[in-house]
Amino acid sequence: MQETKGGHLRVFAWSVLFLVLVCPGIAQTPARPEKPNIIILFADDLGYGDLGTYGHPTIRTPRLDQMAAEGQKWTNFYVGASVCTPSRAALLTGRLPVRNGMASPVHRVLFPDSRNGLPASEVTLAEQLKKAGYAAACVGKWHLGHREPFLPTHHGFDSYFGIPYSNDMDNITDFEAVGGYMAFWETEAARDVNTFHVPLLRDTRIVERPADQHTITRRYTDESIKFIETNRENPFFLYLAYNLPHVPLFASGDFEGRSERGLYGDVVEEIDFNVGRILDRLVELGLESRTLVVFTSDNGPWLIMDEEGGSAGLLRGGKGSTWEGGMREPCIFWGPGQIAPGVVSDMGTAMDLFTTFSHLAGVPVPEDRAMDGIDLGPVLFEGEPGNRKEMFYYRGDELYAVRLGDFKAHFKTQSGYSPDKQEHDPPLLFNLQTDPSEQYNLNQSHPQILQQIRNAVRSHQATMVKGPDMLKDRG
Ligand code: MG
Repeated sequence: MQETKGGHLRVFAWSVLFLVLVCPGIAQTPARPEKPNIIILFADDLGYGDLGTYGHPTIRTPRLDQMAAEGQKWTNFYVGASVCTPSRAALLTGRLPVRNGMASPVHRVLFPDSRNGLPASEVTLAEQLKKAGYAAACVGKWHLGHREPFLPTHHGFDSYFGIPYSNDMDNITDFEAVGGYMAFWETEAARDVNTFHVPLLRDTRIVERPADQHTITRRYTDESIKFIETNRENPFFLYLAYNLPHVPLFASGDFEGRSERGLYGDVVEEIDFNVGRILDRLVELGLESRTLVVFTSDNGPWLIMDEEGGSAGLLRGGKGSTWEGGMREPCIFWGPGQIAPGVVSDMGTAMDLFTTFSHLAGVPVPEDRAMDGIDLGPVLFEGEPGNRKEMFYYRGDELYAVRLGDFKAHFKTQSGYSPDKQEHDPPLLFNLQTDPSEQYNLNQSHPQILQQIRNAVRSHQATMVKGPDMLKDRG
């Protein structure tokens, strides 16, 4: 009986193999969806090395790991800047922040006393998708201007529920009295949610202040699930930007004290759990085959926060810098029956999402301005090689480094939060495919590569028109 059963199993296995190898058309092949629902899940300050699937040994992220196994895990995916405000501007407009005024030599991000925000003249991904009849919701951290004309509902979103800037802002502490900003983080007050007088907004109205950050990850997810349920019959765009694991770290009672990695691990594991809730609800509603979900982070880990900051894994540097750890992020695409599963080492950027999703929705990308995205569709849906060859790394409005193919040249380097800026002539040169940690400078042995990169810089700068600085005015 055992043998017969085994024999049947063997015949079945060979039949499946035959169908997959000889008749690939019969097995399910991924297909490019038309007007799919789109969900962007954006973490804050989560590093390249902070998920199980990207190699973290003690942070447990089973749902994101599963998402990566069922979808595409990208290993060369970049954001448009190494800090919050410009990175978010790049994601939502498909443009380098230096073009839309969201990068500045004076301030790196927007603050609670900033006067401006993302200009109304910018076209956001929400505005794009609205043209194709999508419903659009923004949930979570915005950080593109907290004054009314700059809020999400003035930038194409039908609704907003979240905090308008970073979760460490509106700090009520007298820093001088506690010995300075960094000394503050050692105090008890830094662990008290009431120290951070951050407002929680619904559309344009403050509904809670300070926001209870212990429950905020769960509440953002509840809000998002409600939006998905309401819009199950029509195409929707959900931009869910969790404001953690940006310091200060807060977890709910269900997660606090659970992770071997300490509070940072608790917070990431709570995000992982809530991402799982969204994927489960999509499956329960039968929406998974017409929904694309992408998970990434706005910038690298905030290393000066020591154990409360994350990890860039094998990458050098972190948040605030143009080393790989500042701008290369975990990125997972999920869409059963749509996305061709696998690990992708082609280059992609957050700005490419604007172009990719516009194409899927059938909405032309704006032609009256310079755009910085490409369509990732061939990689996502057809398993073809990617078309992105270049990546420009800005700090504020200054170009610091350029990647061309496998090679990256640093014209300038600086730690995330130190005045240790250095200029390099010739630039430092690293082969990121063989040396992702940027340890071995090759600038003496590859003059022809350096020349190609200099040419790429020349053509990039020849057409660069910087937007008016929207970050500089405060008070
Ligand atoms: Mg951030």
